[in-house]
Amino acid sequence: MKLVDTHTHIYLNEFDGDITGVMERAIDAGIIKMVLPACDAGSIKPMNDLHRAYPDLTVMAAGLHPTEIGDDADAQMKIIEQELRENRDRYVAIGEIGMDLYWDKSRRDQQIHYFSYQCRLATELDLPVIIHCREALDETLRAISSLPKTPRSIFHSFSGTAEDVATIRRIAGQDTYFGINGIVTFKKSRVAEALPQIGIEHLLLETDAPYLSPVPFRGKRNEPSYIRHTADFIAASLEISVDELADRTSQNAQHIFGSIL
Ligand SMILES: [Zn+2]
Repeated sequence: MKLVDTHTHIYLNEFDGDITGVMERAIDAGIIKMVLPACDAGSIKPMNDLHRAYPDLTVMAAGLHPTEIGDDADAQMKIIEQELRENRDRYVAIGEIGMDLYWDKSRRDQQIHYFSYQCRLATELDLPVIIHCREALDETLRAISSLPKTPRSIFHSFSGTAEDVATIRRIAGQDTYFGINGIVTFKKSRVAEALPQIGIEHLLLETDAPYLSPVPFRGKRNEPSYIRHTADFIAASLEISVDELADRTSQNAQHIFGSIL
């Protein structure tokens, strides 16, 4: 089994006490690579530290997350952009970036500004973008459609409908990828219904650890090894073996992030 956790924040201090165990359990679960996305300027150092400790198991992404946009957004953006430009070869994506009107609608215009800015930077640096989109699909797609060039994109933590998948593809491109995490295992979630529309060729597995633990760990701290529960659920839903799902989604990760395996 070869799994890629395409979205995990295990550089956060939630993992300070037991990162060795977390990594061992990830390897035991079949994980061969993890994508670490930094969400603000302050995450860059701890993320780099973890990557240096586990250079074969991890790759890095960085961006200014919509919910991290405050009065110091310009200063944060400068630090993140400088890091990406100076160390372009060490990064596989810009993210996570995006729009979130669930937590805070007051910074809507700023969110659009920084999202668009980072999408243009991604095109310039030839990197894909990892998009966080919550209660803001229209705004996100409008921002993407106003760009001079559409970046290659991953809609991470996707929890929409089959119709949303079709709409996203129309605007963001047919080769858009969708990251599915523990949400798919939640009782009230209808993400599984969108899986056939996404199709195995555009599916990515992720945990978003420490958040969004799959059933049966819902509500507890998430970690990469729990990806197996999400993988088992998706494989059953698509009526394929978990080995095939692992192989195909790892190939997809290799394709969108560019030779990470
Ligand atoms: Zn995340």
